[in-house]
Amino acid sequence: MSPLDALIARSESDLPEVYDHVESEVRSYCRGWPAVMDVAEGSWITDTDGNRYLDFFAGAGALNYGHNNPLLKKPLLEYLSGNKIVHSLDMATVAKTEFLRTFDELILTPRELDYKVQFPGPTGANAVESALKLARKVTGRESIINFTNAFHGMTLGALSVTGNSMKRAGAGIPLVHATPMPYDNYFDGVTEDFHWFERVLDDSGGGLNRPAAVIVETVQGEGGVNVARMEWLQALEQLCRKRDILLIVDDVQMGCGRTGPFFSFEEAGIKPDIVTLSKSISGYGLPMALTLFRRDLDVWSPGEHNGTFRGHNPAFVTAAAALQTYWRDNQFAEETKTKGKLVRERLEAIAATANGVTARGRGMVQGLKFEDADAASAVCRAAFDRGLLLETSGPSDEVVKLLPPLTTSTDDLAAGLDIIAESVATSAA
Ligand code: PMP
Repeated sequence: MSPLDALIARSESDLPEVYDHVESEVRSYCRGWPAVMDVAEGSWITDTDGNRYLDFFAGAGALNYGHNNPLLKKPLLEYLSGNKIVHSLDMATVAKTEFLRTFDELILTPRELDYKVQFPGPTGANAVESALKLARKVTGRESIINFTNAFHGMTLGALSVTGNSMKRAGAGIPLVHATPMPYDNYFDGVTEDFHWFERVLDDSGGGLNRPAAVIVETVQGEGGVNVARMEWLQALEQLCRKRDILLIVDDVQMGCGRTGPFFSFEEAGIKPDIVTLSKSISGYGLPMALTLFRRDLDVWSPGEHNGTFRGHNPAFVTAAAALQTYWRDNQFAEETKTKGKLVRERLEAIAATANGVTARGRGMVQGLKFEDADAASAVCRAAFDRGLLLETSGPSDEVVKLLPPLTTSTDDLAAGLDIIAESVATSAA
């Protein structure tokens, strides 16, 4: 068997037996990528058999600065070896002081975002739950507007504003107090934007309770790399302002520079009332999340929304180091945009070689959409067999999503794109 044939022959049953015997059936990534991952550096992961993988998945957007980034690892190791406090609930700590000061100085102040910062628990879903709770508390209203194909997390509140029917079914109870509206281009440009939403808001017979908030992703990562136009985001902001509805931007996956600027909404020139951040905010893949909101919306009572893991100091250390390393000026954002253009050009060329395939995306979140959903999965598997990690997204998994670390070199980007071209040629052309 050639080395490539040996890789292609791998299946889930090659994993240590303990996975099947002990870990729940709910596991997923280890099924599609049946290898035991071991060492990771930058954009590369090595498994226990010594196979190397170029990572175009980046922890679903949690590793924008790559694996074990040495510039972040150094302060982390110093922190740990100094016996500095690791767990502290939301006590004041040196690491937290430094993070809050750095975030304010490098991110909020230069963007004129007068936000308060809440530590809601360490996951994206935690941030979304707290955003929804706060919007309801501030307005005294219960209903939330979400969008078709949105993804906001797996807890009940986050699930109620998520589109995917398989994930929603997992709730086991009715998911209520949320009303989906069409995301930008849902009707392929046929229906005027917000026609339906504005109409039912204004119509006393429309049957829509006055919403507390709208929750939106500027690019729907899990929903199929659907990119909202800037005009659409601007019109959404205006609509919310005019009708006194809070605007929540869920920047869990698209924030921290994924589309170029630190926040994905910056290019649209909008200022959301509430923002959720997680994934790459710690910079190192350590769990951490933030909920940001306008100062006047800070109506929480002390301890009203709490949680044991809201002060993970190692994450504060790497988060502050990431901001100081990459966000002192615009250079990193510009580099990301340039790399994004390179990726996009190549994807357009690949799409042109196959029937019914189109390229889509913004910045360093890009995708290839296939008419045949099975083709997208086949391309991801073919890429894995050639040493590239790629995930599918979209309601039918019809989109191959590219989410490389933003620090990936142009050579590595080109190498990954070569593998994608080959994988499309062998499995979907
Ligand atoms: N919001 C968005 C936009 C996401 O992409 C995700 C995760 N993919 C979440 C929320 C939930 O984050 P977590 O998995 O950390 O709960």
